[in-house]
Amino acid sequence: MTLDVLTFGCRLNTYESEAMRDLAGKAGHTDTILVNTCAVTAEAERQARQAIRSAHRKNPAATILVTGCAAQIAPERWAALPGVARVIGNADKLRPEAWALDAPPAPVTDIMAATETAAHLVTDFAGRARAFVQVQQGCDHRCTFCVIPYGRGPSRSVPIGAIVEQVRLLAGRGYREVVLTGVDITSYGPDLPGRPSLGQMVRRLLALVPELPRLRLSSLDPVEMDDDLWRLIAEEPRLMPHLHLSLQHGADLILKRMKRRHLRADAIALGRRARSLRPDIAFGADLIAGFPTETEAQFQEMLDLVGEMELTFLHVFPYSERPGTPAARMPQLPVPLRRERAARLRATGQAAAARFFATRVGQEEAVLFEREDRGHTEHFAPLRLAGGGARPGELRRLRVTGTTPDGLLAEAA
Ligand code: SF4
Repeated sequence: MTLDVLTFGCRLNTYESEAMRDLAGKAGHTDTILVNTCAVTAEAERQARQAIRSAHRKNPAATILVTGCAAQIAPERWAALPGVARVIGNADKLRPEAWALDAPPAPVTDIMAATETAAHLVTDFAGRARAFVQVQQGCDHRCTFCVIPYGRGPSRSVPIGAIVEQVRLLAGRGYREVVLTGVDITSYGPDLPGRPSLGQMVRRLLALVPELPRLRLSSLDPVEMDDDLWRLIAEEPRLMPHLHLSLQHGADLILKRMKRRHLRADAIALGRRARSLRPDIAFGADLIAGFPTETEAQFQEMLDLVGEMELTFLHVFPYSERPGTPAARMPQLPVPLRRERAARLRATGQAAAARFFATRVGQEEAVLFEREDRGHTEHFAPLRLAGGGARPGELRRLRVTGTTPDGLLAEAA
């Protein structure tokens, strides 16, 4: 009799899954499978449906509860899957009452009407060395390829006091690194008293939780980074020198057709500014290959941007048309071409990563270990410790002695 949690998608889902595990456990759920779905790509939805069917086959008596963006957007479809007892909407997933054993099946709450974001103090991230903390929910933008706003609703911010309490609790439980997550965290604050910016919130958080060694930010919108955040990038060693950017593409006409709020020159200017403030900073980026109407020349512009900005850690998505989005009504590229371009983009990213790893040889790194021989540096470079011997969650300073195909190498002292 167990409570299994299957999580798909983003870091925000990771945070919410731990919160739901706690809520469902406290409500007395046993022999229950909780599936936290993602709607970003058709593939993510296919994997969750497959997981539900296989869970039901293996344990027909288990209660299957489904939540997450895909379930929020099309609740009937998920409720119809074998073994699914209930669909819980994204607006309700962190409300204790939604987990009551005798909670009646109820229509999923309209997420577009959400005005606040529920939060739940999470004390443990099962088997993880770093903790994820929700600071923001939802999105007010309407990028033409994206369904997230229809799964998450309008942008809402978590009050600073609740964030400080959550981070202090996790630092107190020994977490050395916290990742601040949300859907569009650079939209933090306008719905709160005093309209604090993301940078102001981070500065206050770090001041109020001096015991936390490392703070990392999840995806950033390149044109929404505020001045306080830029100052922290320049001055604050506890803010990790690793920015993950929601770039999506490198050609202006495609960025316009995506309804993004930046152009290629803005991304390049951001890279130069960040490097002038913190020369060793590393960049990650979300990029989509094969967006409708993308020409070979426009794709080449994106490949060139990877080298020009030295984008090291790429999250590459072959374009996946999402029902009801404007991009799904544009002329589509053949799926094999999307996949082929995604593979070329990944290869370009790996070459950029290898160049970055080579610059770290001989440097001393602070490494947070996830396993006895595997960890990540402040730049989020994977590191293998020859000989092992580290403890999960341990922070250790090591000198890099070499590189591996997917990261750095160090010898145990
Ligand atoms: S900013 Fe754009 S891509 Fe990101 S969640 Fe909002 S609509 Fe989607």
